[in-house]
Amino acid sequence: MRQLKYLAGYSEKVTQQVGQLISEDQLGSFLLKKYPAAHDIRTDRLLYDFTMAIKSEFLRNSQPLSKVAYDGKISLVHPALGLHSFVSRVQGGKLKAKNEIRVASVFKLAPIEFLKMIVVHELAHLKEKDHDKAFYRLCEHMEPAYHQLEFDMRLYLTHLDLGGPLYQDPEKPGEAKLRMV
Ligand SMILES: [Zn+2]
Repeated sequence: MRQLKYLAGYSEKVTQQVGQLISEDQLGSFLLKKYPAAHDIRTDRLLYDFTMAIKSEFLRNSQPLSKVAYDGKISLVHPALGLHSFVSRVQGGKLKAKNEIRVASVFKLAPIEFLKMIVVHELAHLKEKDHDKAFYRLCEHMEPAYHQLEFDMRLYLTHLDLGGPLYQDPEKPGEAKLRMV
């Protein structure tokens, strides 16, 4: 099924169950029941503070972060939902290394749990470059429900992809909320 591109890594049994929810028009209400509201971390400043709070709790000794921001171009340019980049620049004759985290702007209007899952993923890359066991262990250390949240987050993207908004965007007050069936 083309509309389940966000669930490509999951088993057929799972994608069939999701397909069932979609065909019964229940995916949106299923998600709303579990995640009734969107967070209000709507600026880069707040996103930076949110990220630094997690970093200082779990990764106190990791490399510093120079920037955390929402990025509207991520899903277009990169096949990713978040992005961690290690940028080296020559500044005033010195080589400066900077760690930056960018979060796809789709997560500006999302439950706090999904935002945290993305931030945890990108923070884990400060220590572990590859998506290996050590990487996911670190993700689960910061967020024990990491894998469940990743799955639910993919359900949310699937729902959006099918054209159904889930939360009221405070920047677009006229836009309709989820049609509850
Ligand atoms: Zn990654």
